[in-house]
Amino acid sequence: MDLKTLYRDIILDHYKKPRNTAPVEAPTVEARCKNPACGDRVTLQLRVDGDKLQAVGLQGTGCAISQASASMMTQAVKGASLDEARAKLHEFRRMIVDGVDEAALDQAVLGDLITLQGVAKLHARVKCALCGWSALEAALDQREDEVDMELDKSLPDAKAGGTF
Ligand code: ZN
Repeated sequence: MDLKTLYRDIILDHYKKPRNTAPVEAPTVEARCKNPACGDRVTLQLRVDGDKLQAVGLQGTGCAISQASASMMTQAVKGASLDEARAKLHEFRRMIVDGVDEAALDQAVLGDLITLQGVAKLHARVKCALCGWSALEAALDQREDEVDMELDKSLPDAKAGGTF
């Protein structure tokens, strides 16, 4: 099995069985994101206790990349400190938006998220991959309004369809 196939299998596994989908008991913040061009939606609940993301709850609909990326995000940040979560968000954006080379990325910070690296080359899917992360960013900033990926003009346009 080549790396691309392995990565695709991991993405599809998260899409079919998204992690951390149970509603969070007594969430301290809830943030949402939508990506209208593709029809992706993510609702993210967090329970922040002191400096730690004690609980993470994901509800979403949409394409495989959006939902797999959001699912992987929940795994990456659950139990993390606020600083660690922000570091993962920063590194994920460097990988997906800036298209930074694998060798220049912090693999320890990214972990399994590296499987989504190919999305950086699929400009139409960048907003899909970022939807869950934009909800995370809003939640970390205590912004409870819905993020609309369409309004982020720094990102390439999303389109429905496309392959990965
Ligand atoms: Zn999508």
